[in-house]
Amino acid sequence: MAKKQFKAESKKLMDMMINSIYTHKEIFLRELISNASDALDKRYYHCLQNGESMNREDYRIQLSIDKENRTLTISDNGCGMSEKDLETNLGTIAKSGSLDFKSDMDKESDVEIIGQFGVGFYSAFMVSDNVTVLSKALGSDESYLWESSGVDGYTIKKADKAEAGTVITLKIKENTEEENYDRYLEQYSIQDIVSKYSDYIRYPIMLDMTSTKLKEGTEDEYETVVEPTQLNSMVPLWRKNKSEITEDEYNQFYTSKFYDFENPLRTIHSKTEGQVSYDALIYIPSHAPYDYYSKDFEKGLQLYSNGVMIMDKCGDLLPDYFSFAKGLVDSPDLSLNISRETLQHDHILKVIAKNVEKKIKSELLKLLQSDREKYETFWKAFGLQLKYGIYSNYGMNKEALQDLIMFTSSNEKKLVTLKEYTDRMSEEQKTIYFASGETVDKIDMLPQTDAVKAKGFEVLYCTDDVDEFALQMMREYGGKTFTNICAGNLDLDTDEEKEALKKENEESKELLDFLKESLGGAVNEVRFTNKLKNHPVCLTSEGMLSLEMEKVLSAMPGENKAKATVVLEINREHELAEKLKAIFSEDKEKAAKYAKILYSQGCLIAGKSIDNPTEFTQLITELM
Ligand code: ADP
Repeated sequence: MAKKQFKAESKKLMDMMINSIYTHKEIFLRELISNASDALDKRYYHCLQNGESMNREDYRIQLSIDKENRTLTISDNGCGMSEKDLETNLGTIAKSGSLDFKSDMDKESDVEIIGQFGVGFYSAFMVSDNVTVLSKALGSDESYLWESSGVDGYTIKKADKAEAGTVITLKIKENTEEENYDRYLEQYSIQDIVSKYSDYIRYPIMLDMTSTKLKEGTEDEYETVVEPTQLNSMVPLWRKNKSEITEDEYNQFYTSKFYDFENPLRTIHSKTEGQVSYDALIYIPSHAPYDYYSKDFEKGLQLYSNGVMIMDKCGDLLPDYFSFAKGLVDSPDLSLNISRETLQHDHILKVIAKNVEKKIKSELLKLLQSDREKYETFWKAFGLQLKYGIYSNYGMNKEALQDLIMFTSSNEKKLVTLKEYTDRMSEEQKTIYFASGETVDKIDMLPQTDAVKAKGFEVLYCTDDVDEFALQMMREYGGKTFTNICAGNLDLDTDEEKEALKKENEESKELLDFLKESLGGAVNEVRFTNKLKNHPVCLTSEGMLSLEMEKVLSAMPGENKAKATVVLEINREHELAEKLKAIFSEDKEKAAKYAKILYSQGCLIAGKSIDNPTEFTQLITELM
């Protein structure tokens, strides 16, 4: 029989399928099952309209595996196809208008296109050498067999099928080095693929499953039994009413579907109806996946259209700062064949994403208010991401996130929110104090912390690299600015104290300049300070860039290292101050050595490495 040629576009698509390097070839089954489900829908409505009787239970999708002949068969008793249908539906791409082919199709765009589209029937050729479609249209006496082995065309001949419906038989490819096709002939893989992609198809998907069982009435005799098994659960959990679902069911669904061994911290289940209708089932995990803070992590929620999964990870549904959320969105308003590209511009999806974001935020706030312990668990796992969220996009999302972030505070070293901090601020305190360092304990021991705490003020301890950058981006919270206690002027002094200090610094100008010179450009200024209680010295910075930020930036790759403006501050009250003045007038050389030691001490306290440790220890030894 003469072969008929595919339409040009179909040929291209077919060619792509056959030579595909697409890694998720298994989606072919989802496509064929969806088609079967559509055909069943059509038959169902046809019967309804014509008053014919057929029970919904009689509709089914039957899968069968023949390992010997390497075939996988998908049968349905849906509306079927006439000869003409076979010709037009399978000889051309139904919605060819939506397939905007790139003229120079390379392997990469091939993968992209397959990933983007529900590619439909032709996806069968990703896993098969040969495909036959035996079909009988509803109400017709004739049936036909469509057959093709690929791009060189197809044949249609008369056949003999008793019932209306369609039987698609795939001759599964032989294994190659890269690809294991045998798995499409294994009952358990088929079961997995169906439950992964088509669990909620509203018709039973059946497979005869073979297993070995203990023979009834015996204790050690086994027999092989074949049982018709329904592979899909048909009812999506998220479509049920909340009141019908137990916490256990929610948790089980989460752990099995999202491959987590721990139950989620919080489950968010919402139904939205109106302009855009959708169900959302979203989980907040209780710990970060191992790759969460790496480039490999891919955010996203599963996307369903009426119970059929159309995308496994739809990133557009989640802002980066909520990338930890897992779950799904199901909307009848989304089309099955929507592409990734069109999705980005999809109005419905944007509306859903906005609502999802609001919902996650409000649920996190609720958690913060109702279950502090759980919220702190959440914070420890994902807090860093929220702080990045504040810093990124030029602080665009700070409003949304500022009430969710926490810091360890000098108040019993417990976590506090900014709201809690500002609520406890006294009239006298004008600004929110913070300090940065490697660990809470190290910051707690800083001389500057001592001084601020002595005034009765609370200090936020910033231990993550991003902290200071985030605070700088926020600028203020509830009308209160942020002040780094290791940078610039703390303004804790009374007017008299300020005046006295100013005088001291003026009078000691010669000494201070000398100390600065001795340090050879390591600091921008040396001055006396009132802010240290017991310690002799500290390093502070001036301007936007703090010492901690300098450390963070210098750890990043790149040539241009930004430098903080560093000031060496000497405790005016300390006995050392007097001693220094005396030494300066007696022995300049010795004073220069003191300058180096004091500067190195400042570095050590600030957690900054000493430029020349050998010289430092030599100087100390000499003094001893
Ligand atoms: P799509 O499903 O996006 O329309 P496909 O390439 O998957 O594209 O299928 C093309 C057409 O073939 C379908 O629109 C449908 O009319 C017909 N078709 C495919 N499978 C079946 C089936 N099992 N029963 C009846 N018609 C089918």
